[in-house]
Amino acid sequence: MKSHAAATRLLRRRLGAKIVQSTDQALAAAAFDSLKIPFLPEAVIFPRHHADIGQVLALANAHRVPVTVRGRGTSLTGSAAPRRGGWVLDLVGWKGIRVDAESGMAFVQAGAKVADIHRAVEAKGWFYPPDPSSREYCTIGGNIACNAGGMHGGKYGVTRDFVLALRGFLPTGEYVEWGTATKKFSAGFNLRDLWIGSEGMLGVVTDAVLKLIPKPPARWTLLCAFRDEVAAFAAVRGLFAQKVQPSICEFLDRYSVICAERKTKTTVFPGQAGKPVVLLELAGSASEVRAQKRQVLAWARKEALAFRAARNREEAEKLWDVRRKCSGAMFELGDSKLNEDIVVPARNYAAFARFLDGLRRESALPIPTFGHLGDGNLHVNIMYRRANPAERKAAEKAVQRLMAKVVELDGAISGEHGIGLAKSPFLRLQHSPAQVKAMRAVKRALDPRGILNPGKIFEPFEVWRHRRLEIALPWDHK
Ligand SMILES: Cc1cc2nc3c(=O)[nH]c(=O)nc-3n(C[C@H](O)[C@H](O)[C@H](O)COP(=O)(O)OP(=O)(O)OC[C@H]3O[C@@H](n4cnc5c(N)ncnc54)[C@H](O)[C@@H]3O)c2cc1C
Repeated sequence: MKSHAAATRLLRRRLGAKIVQSTDQALAAAAFDSLKIPFLPEAVIFPRHHADIGQVLALANAHRVPVTVRGRGTSLTGSAAPRRGGWVLDLVGWKGIRVDAESGMAFVQAGAKVADIHRAVEAKGWFYPPDPSSREYCTIGGNIACNAGGMHGGKYGVTRDFVLALRGFLPTGEYVEWGTATKKFSAGFNLRDLWIGSEGMLGVVTDAVLKLIPKPPARWTLLCAFRDEVAAFAAVRGLFAQKVQPSICEFLDRYSVICAERKTKTTVFPGQAGKPVVLLELAGSASEVRAQKRQVLAWARKEALAFRAARNREEAEKLWDVRRKCSGAMFELGDSKLNEDIVVPARNYAAFARFLDGLRRESALPIPTFGHLGDGNLHVNIMYRRANPAERKAAEKAVQRLMAKVVELDGAISGEHGIGLAKSPFLRLQHSPAQVKAMRAVKRALDPRGILNPGKIFEPFEVWRHRRLEIALPWDHK
């Protein structure tokens, strides 16, 4: 990898050694994200002011130094790892959050933790629905860059649906504002939405204006068990056809349920152990929730093998515990997990369930699957033992089969995590040569020297050939 020592020295002279750090500790901490494949940078930059960021990028552009922006490094795809070395721009210190209770908008800095945004807006009676499971760790800048989603996606939408305006810098170091703090903006090309989901490759987000909605005053939770996965999928499709829109609709297949049951040492439904479940939440005004509740109970009586409604928040929390515990519990099945976040259209749920059964048989690997049925975003978890070469090979093959099938079923190879390094070999399954060419043209137009997060998305990366660090991160098994 090319050294950029002279440019780094120049930057340190301009911004100081507190802002431009190259200690072993700083470099090691910025070398990897949750994919745990490390690439050492030459410096980590902790900017204090907007002007610092402008200077960093202008200098990087002039000297062709790769720059990778970093939030908290919870990305599961390697998108935050500095594949080509160079500089890491760490924005975690940019934590500002201001809620305007009158307009229903939040003014946030890129490093603000998503759970802190939730707490700040809810304290003022507002609601910011995007809720990745990593929300106690990840930043809003990372969520914008990955267009993060969560359990509320089906009813309310994902990060993109709540961003009104962005401020930040082009890779050339020029300051830009996309949109303003208004609910409408139709003045010119929409580069705001181009930045959202661009995985830190088209610009650096420093600040965002988020749209809020009133916090729903009433909520109600129901857990339903089904005979098998196909029955669960068919029942949920039937519920949506009745125009019922749960605020959350989470699915756990039988393998995920078994994991959670082992972990919690309880059965979800006495007498129905190891059956797939769907966890529903209704939210809205008390009268809306009452009306939908009647409809949902009638549906559950007809479709479910067993169901249990929460009588209060404490009982609801117990039901949610099953969902929260299942992901971490899967490590009983193997020390390594390929956590895929594919999307399947509802009309193809049954075909996908049959495919997964076949994939389990063929690979001889445990593949517990859970996810958000409100928007078809399913987490397919391929579990294997790292020290076992046959299992590693089988897992690699299973991912390839999975991605090809998802595209064949008109789905998406990622619904929320993005492409980064891990899914780069599959980009061309999803996108035609003309589509990839158009994306590359956009990249060239905004980043002519290719300095921002190079080596991602377009250049296939073989995860399998790289050793992953064997370290525990605070959010592992969450
Ligand atoms: C346990 C766990 C659960 C998860 N659950 C979910 C989930 O439910 N839903 C979901 O969507 N994701 C989930 N994720 C993935 C991850 O948390 C998200 O992708 C998150 O958006 C990353 O935020 P971050 O601050 O950690 O960003 P990082 O990992 O630091 O960076 C991610 C990408 O964003 C870019 N980036 C970061 N900040 C900026 C910025 N200010 N400007 C421009 N680019 C920037 C980086 O360059 C990189 O490409 C989960 C991850 C873990 C480990």
